[in-house]
Amino acid sequence: MASRRGDVIESQFMSQCIPADQLRQQMTSIIQKTGSELAEAEQVAANLVMANLSGHDSHGVGMVPRYVDAVLEGGLNPNTGVKVVLDTGPLLNLDGQRGYGQITGVQAMQMGIERAKQHGVCTVALSRSHHLGRIGHFAEMAVAQGLVSVHFVNVLSRPVVAPFGGGDGRFGTNPCCIGIPMGNRPPFVLDYATSRVAQGKMRVAHNKGEQVPDGYLIDENGQPTNNPGVVVVPQSNGLFGALMTFGEHKGFGMAMACELLGGALTGGGTWHREADNKRAVLNGMLTMIIDPVKLGTQDSFAKEALAFEDWLRQSPDAPNSEGVVLAGEPERKARADREQNGIWIDNATWSEIQAAEAKLKSRHA
Ligand code: NAD
Repeated sequence: MASRRGDVIESQFMSQCIPADQLRQQMTSIIQKTGSELAEAEQVAANLVMANLSGHDSHGVGMVPRYVDAVLEGGLNPNTGVKVVLDTGPLLNLDGQRGYGQITGVQAMQMGIERAKQHGVCTVALSRSHHLGRIGHFAEMAVAQGLVSVHFVNVLSRPVVAPFGGGDGRFGTNPCCIGIPMGNRPPFVLDYATSRVAQGKMRVAHNKGEQVPDGYLIDENGQPTNNPGVVVVPQSNGLFGALMTFGEHKGFGMAMACELLGGALTGGGTWHREADNKRAVLNGMLTMIIDPVKLGTQDSFAKEALAFEDWLRQSPDAPNSEGVVLAGEPERKARADREQNGIWIDNATWSEIQAAEAKLKSRHA
């Protein structure tokens, strides 16, 4: 099975391999048609393609059809940045006003980073942002400036995750993320959904016709299942199944903390109602940024962090494992590979993207 980059080819999953540049251009063009200015469309497209490059296809260009629907329904506002609700210096309260999260999230981080450098810390409450995508993107902005950042995020879209001990979905995939600079080495970037897996990964698996391992999902009747379709399409009784949290009660606790901090404390709100069919995905994000230089521990922090990393790496490989991997490494490895060899997009996802573009064309016709 041979392929050239950019060719449309058939693999066992019916996919095509597209160079990142080409994908950025194509997504920019679609997002512009949602009403975005060119600069906004380019920034949103670059963020989505970066998620694909980082190995997180769930938060990549496959989100575009959802964004198109959200704009058409009036749930996502193109060309809309953050509104400052409160600014005390080290405390920022920002309203995302349903703008593209790839824009509002970057604005929030730019402001927070500047304040953290000034004051040593900054807490940024960002509410009512449309989908922020891969949260690690924001931690990477902070660590690039030598800053620590911690993010708690809630998701207002569909209650797709079941509480530990519960039998149906009650909240979103609520990601949390911690970015820590590691001296002159690549940073630690821990970034994951508090569900056992991200909802978008179930869409990708469903589109590929794959089953998922035990312990990920319950069906519409609260029974364990391996079928990712239960959280992607309505089931026989019109209801969806649900994802489970990672780490049993511990993951559930973290998911709840994300809802309380990312939703309640930011002012964006928590989920406590029945599901609807609206396509918008709103995120609330509470971010804390710390400058180790201002804290006065920069030298010992860098020394101790590197010593701990060295210590971890001396651990012998567990049988049948790839050895110790640090958070952030898989994404950097995927980027190096996909920048070089292109990004595989399965045909179901590609058809959804084309259908979304066609909807926008008919709107302008
Ligand atoms: P995941 O399960 O792939 O975990 C990713 C994290 O684990 C990364 O920090 C990665 O570096 C680390 N990691 C991976 N393999 C490792 C290993 N062998 N050893 C040590 N660390 C390892 O991620 P996920 O839960 O599927 O989340 C994917 C993305 O979805 C994230 O970027 C998240 O922010 C995003 N997300 C966004 C939303 C939203 O509403 N905006 C909601 C949920 C998830």
